[in-house]
Amino acid sequence: MVTHPVKRIDFIIFLFLIIFGCFAMNFTPPEKEERLKAIGNLNELPESLKGLFKEGESFKPIPFPNPGDWLYEHPESGQTYKDYINSNPNKPDSKRNKIYLKPLGSFPEGASPSLGKLKEYVSAFFSSEVELLPLFDIKDAKLTTRINPYTERQQILTTDILNLLKKNLLDDAFCLMAITMEDLYPHQTWNFVFGQASLRERVGVYSFARYDPAFYGKERGKDYKKLILWRSCKVLAHEIGHQFGIEHCIFYGCVMNGSNHLQESDARPHHICPVDLRKLQYSVEFDIVERYKKLQQFYEECGFEKEVNWVRERLKEILKNE
Ligand SMILES: [Zn+2]
Ligand SMILES: [Zn+2]
Repeated sequence: MVTHPVKRIDFIIFLFLIIFGCFAMNFTPPEKEERLKAIGNLNELPESLKGLFKEGESFKPIPFPNPGDWLYEHPESGQTYKDYINSNPNKPDSKRNKIYLKPLGSFPEGASPSLGKLKEYVSAFFSSEVELLPLFDIKDAKLTTRINPYTERQQILTTDILNLLKKNLLDDAFCLMAITMEDLYPHQTWNFVFGQASLRERVGVYSFARYDPAFYGKERGKDYKKLILWRSCKVLAHEIGHQFGIEHCIFYGCVMNGSNHLQESDARPHHICPVDLRKLQYSVEFDIVERYKKLQQFYEECGFEKEVNWVRERLKEILKNE
């Protein structure tokens, strides 16, 4: 029997699509059953907490990633609540419980987020004591730098900063986070990085340089100061979340979602999903409603309307379930 050539071509195209499809798209958003499994067994919780980690209307499943998005490029398997507990994460205790923020280099007025506001946000988000350290002059440290060939701007090597931070960790520090308006790179082969952390050593560094539209030669809108603060708060919540041992979230739209580009980090929400809220609450043991109220107050002060509305709806949902 002779195979019909057209059919054979169809078959080859079909095979190509299967093979190409497997390589191009190997992350599928988890179904509801898997998401609930990630939150874990709520029956083991005290009565007062049981209703607070339900999926509810406030939390949306993670969307399918597009080419170039984090999960498209790095199909991670996710960390359930149980995985988190089994990983024996760093947990604040009576000796080590303070989050330190260390500004590196200058924070020019009008082009930087307010350090006071960042401190306030981290304190509300993690329900923890936060101390802002004095500004550190980068010229005093021997840090490796380079000029980025695309932006023609100076960048600092993150690993040098992390080594410096490790030597400066105070006894009561849960973690020490350097923040800077300088652009960063983690390795010679990378174009740039928004931030990098060493989780076991409780240090990290984050740059807000690329949160200013002017960095890309774009015009700053009239709300650009709010935009810089909004983006900077979000990256701090994400990166300090890692310090608590929380890995990238693959279950819901969540501040712990990985991000490959600015558009993707802008699209992820400011809040943490029920899986990661349960992890953080286990770690810090805060009152969930009180935490939401503090966040709402902060968002109101900053004019972050979308976030104010989200917390308001979430609080309504919690009170309805009680
Ligand atoms: Zn991350
Ligand atoms: Zn999450």
